[in-house]
Amino acid sequence: MPISIRKLTTLTALSFSLFGLVCAPAHAQKQQVAIAIHGGAGVIERASLTKEKESAIRAALERAVRAGYARLTKGESSLDAVSAAILILEDSPYFNAGKGAVYTADGTHELDAAIMDGAHRRAGAVSGLHRVKNPILLARAVMEHSEHVMLSGAGAEAFARLQNITLVPPSYFDTPERLQALRDAQQLEKVNPRAALPHRAYFGTVGAVALDQSGELSAGTSTGGMTNKRFGRIGDTPIIGAGTYADRNCAVSATGHGEYFMRSVVAYDICARVAYRGSSVRQAAETVILDELKSQGGEGGVITIDSAGKIAMPFNSAGMYRASIDVDGHVSVEIF
Ligand code: ASP
Repeated sequence: MPISIRKLTTLTALSFSLFGLVCAPAHAQKQQVAIAIHGGAGVIERASLTKEKESAIRAALERAVRAGYARLTKGESSLDAVSAAILILEDSPYFNAGKGAVYTADGTHELDAAIMDGAHRRAGAVSGLHRVKNPILLARAVMEHSEHVMLSGAGAEAFARLQNITLVPPSYFDTPERLQALRDAQQLEKVNPRAALPHRAYFGTVGAVALDQSGELSAGTSTGGMTNKRFGRIGDTPIIGAGTYADRNCAVSATGHGEYFMRSVVAYDICARVAYRGSSVRQAAETVILDELKSQGGEGGVITIDSAGKIAMPFNSAGMYRASIDVDGHVSVEIF
């Protein structure tokens, strides 16, 4: 039976693409992965950062970013990568999240966290926790095993018990350095009541954003909030859109003076600029952090990633603990 030229062309194209599929190396089918983390932004006094402390902080950041990346290269989800990285930072006393959380004005700890799955627009958040060892795990349980987005205080801890999430005595979170920071803040407050929340009061919040092999993005953030906070103050960290946000094109985790991040809905604003204006995550994040937030007096920074794995980590403070592994596998750990 004669075969038309058109059919012949179609058949040839089909066999070439089948040949391509069979012969392409397995990794060419996979989406590239990338991850960025932060360990807080603020005034990092070089004098108070001894060599030993700096290298311990760098080592913890590197361990966390590599743990998240290992999940991604194994084909696990960006949610798993974000949780794994944050878990390590929550367990380290050097960061203001989990162990090492700052003190409230009453000498207690109140922890907040949030996680968001950008592909499916699911989110979970917790606030005002006293006894949950790893708030990020509870935030994830709220997202995956409850009908809600945000749980707080005693109710959140009752839910943690039902979910078999580890609870610890409140003294677990104590560290001498954070206690000293509270004393300094309260001393300063006596002289100048408006200085109750000095700049270094909010250094050390942790967060992560990641892109997995399925092209899906997630973001997570965990914090003890601000030293000397009172009256049940909650910051931007657990507020979806303020300190934490992810959609299909963009994921953001923020750190800094939460009140400013809440008023400017920073994390959502960055992703909205990407979605509606077609900005790159770098342009969007830099405009929001370096121009808008800065002009209002809001100090801090963000880590952002897009669906191609491009990372931007702008901050308007003296420093921001941060680390990343990009789509080429390049590892970076930086402070200033
Ligand atoms: N943004 C956090 C808060 O205001 C603090 C921080 O990022 O260090 O609670």
